[in-house]
Amino acid sequence: MKNNDTDPIFSVCMLASGSKGNAIYISGGGATLLIDVGLSGKEIQKRMALRGLDPESIDAIVITHEHTDHIRGAGILSRRFNLPIYINKKTYKAGEKTIGKAHALEFIDCGKDFFIGDMKIHPFSISHDAVDPSGFVIECMEMKIGVATDLGIANLVVREHLKNAHLLILESNHDPVMLIENDNYPWALKQRVKGRKGHLANEDTRDLLVELVHDRLHHVILAHLSEENNTREKARASAVQALNGSKIALSIAAQHEPGQVIRITSSGILP
Ligand SMILES: [Zn+2]
Ligand SMILES: [Zn+2]
Repeated sequence: MKNNDTDPIFSVCMLASGSKGNAIYISGGGATLLIDVGLSGKEIQKRMALRGLDPESIDAIVITHEHTDHIRGAGILSRRFNLPIYINKKTYKAGEKTIGKAHALEFIDCGKDFFIGDMKIHPFSISHDAVDPSGFVIECMEMKIGVATDLGIANLVVREHLKNAHLLILESNHDPVMLIENDNYPWALKQRVKGRKGHLANEDTRDLLVELVHDRLHHVILAHLSEENNTREKARASAVQALNGSKIALSIAAQHEPGQVIRITSSGILP
C-alpha cells in the first residue's frame, strides 16, 4: 500500500467511554473495526453519523471482555451489518446470552496476532474481574495504537505491550479520594474498583504514562472515567504531570458524546 505523509494511516474515534457503555472506532489498512459495542446499535449508528462515519463501512467487531458496558450492542450490530465478532472463547461463553446470535464468530487468543485488513492486532491479558479480559495493540504501516481500559493494575505485560505506541488509549478511572468519600458506593464496590482486578486510578495512569512517554508518542486519550468518582480536570491534571511539558496531545473520552475523529499519518497526527 502506498501512503503519502498526509494520508491517514489510522482514523480513530472514541464513540463512548465509561461504565455506561464503550465503543472505539478504528479504521486503517483498508478495514474498519469497532473495539467493543457497549451501546445499543441505534446509539452507535447515531454517534457515528454525528462524526460523519458510515456504519456500513465497519468490517468487524473486536471484544475486550464480557461486561455489559462492552458488549451490549455487539450482537445487534453484528446481525444488522453482517459483522464477524472477534472474541476469545471464554469471553464468548460468559457473554453469549447478552450477545445472542452473531453473524459470525472468530475466536481469538491472548498473545496471538490476527489481521483485519492490513491491521495487525495483538491481544494481551489484563487484570480485571472478567473471565479472560484483554487489551489490544494495533499496528499498520509502522504506526501503533495501544488500547488498555478496564484494568486494576498495569503489570509488566501491559507495560511491555504499550511501549512505542503512537496513540495510547488508557483508562484513567477514578480519583482515590473521591472514591473513598463517595457515600453512594458500598464498601465492597469500592474494594472492587480499587483492587487488582478493578480499574486504574488517575495516579496509576500517570505512573504508567511516565514509563510510556517517548519521542514519537503523538496522542494520549484518557478513557473509562468514572462519572461519580472522577472529574475530567482531575484526570487531565494527573496525566499532564507525566507528559511533562511535551507536545503530546491529550484528550479525554466522554460517556455521552462521541469524540473528534483523530487521524494519524506517518508524520504524526493531523490537527
Ligand atoms: Zn468497562
Ligand atoms: Zn469491565
